[in-house]
Amino acid sequence: MSSEGGNPHAMRDPRSQHPRPPFPRQPQNAPGEERRMDPPADHGEESYRGAGRLPGRKALVTGGDSGIGRAAAIAFAREGADVAIAYLPAEETDARAVAKLIEAAGRKAVLLPGDVSDEAFCGKLVSDAVAQLGGLDILVNNAGKQTAVDSIAELTTEQFDATFKTNVYAMFWITKAALPHMKPGSAIINTSSIQAMQPSPALLDYAPTKAAILNFTKALAKQVMEKGIRVNAVAPGPFWTPLQPSGGQPQEKVEKFGGETVFGRPGQPAELAAAYVLLASQEASYMTGECISATGGMTPF
Ligand code: NAD
Ligand code: MG
Repeated sequence: MSSEGGNPHAMRDPRSQHPRPPFPRQPQNAPGEERRMDPPADHGEESYRGAGRLPGRKALVTGGDSGIGRAAAIAFAREGADVAIAYLPAEETDARAVAKLIEAAGRKAVLLPGDVSDEAFCGKLVSDAVAQLGGLDILVNNAGKQTAVDSIAELTTEQFDATFKTNVYAMFWITKAALPHMKPGSAIINTSSIQAMQPSPALLDYAPTKAAILNFTKALAKQVMEKGIRVNAVAPGPFWTPLQPSGGQPQEKVEKFGGETVFGRPGQPAELAAAYVLLASQEASYMTGECISATGGMTPF
């Protein structure tokens, strides 16, 4: 936590605003848990101030239990939205913590555990979200699987398949199920990555999924404006989330995580919240098929 109380909008040096490497090695199993992060990540719990940008909206955020999705869920609630989050059953503790924060903002929280790599679950996820929220105006496809493997020789068909199912097929299935429920003014936001443009050699399955997400975003944006729906992407660089120490990076890279950026540190999920809020809100009424990136100054977009 690094807002240090006070005014979150006060001018500060971004290089020293959040923790810098070295970080301790901290292996954990996938899906990683937020409560095991050292140092803990900042999701805007102490700093995000809503300004009524999403009054009465109904949002579904996949992977909303931790990391970037948690920051978006907190910000959406503080902007006036009711929020459903999807996550894996093993992440119940993280999910309940997010529900408390949504409820503390005076909004409804809906918890929808399950595996998005399963098409049938994706359909049920959307119908449960619609039923419990009373509609759907904002969809954030953010759940993701990242497992580093050094060589194509060791990359299994099972992993390749699971990464594509979780990152790409789930986005397709959830979006397809959600669109009939979304009215003009609704927004879809997909989480891509710097990996879409600058792939790491050990992410031979993951990086292409992030390129597919960006491309899908741009194609779908052109298709669904006839319904008045906007579709955009967010492309993070290195962010301090459980995805990384739970197999997304080898532990020697976790120690140095974010050190290669011009900031000399990773981003914190809180530093992406405003991007998701902007794309979800009516303030982005002329933005579709776009990508907001926060790559640590490595800017390939
Ligand atoms: P995270 O681990 O906090 O979030 C990922 C979430 O995906 C998990 O919380 C989990 O709930 C969900 N998930 C994974 N497999 C699932 C499955 N089969 N069914 C249901 N849910 C599943 O990590 P994060 O970094 O916040 O990841 C969010 C998104 O950001 C991902 O799409 C990731 O690819 C992307 N991203 C992260 C970084 C980074 O450096 N952290 C950089 C670029 C892009
Ligand atoms: Mg999680």
